Amino acid sequence: MLNQVSCECGYQAREDDEAAVIRTVQQHVRDSHPELVDQVTPDVIRGWIELVP
Ligand SMILES: [Zn+2]
Repeated sequence: MLNQVSCECGYQAREDDEAAVIRTVQQHVRDSHPELVDQVTPDVIRGWIELVP
């Protein structure tokens, strides 16, 4: 199963494990949504993860 997070902008992150997808999403937020960096904590990102085959 892959850990997938879909951003509201259409960006999708998919990684093999939860820690990796959290890192990928944090990087995306820094690059594309810098105003949200303080709000998008690892706990918040964990709530967005979908497990996909
Ligand atoms: Zn985005």
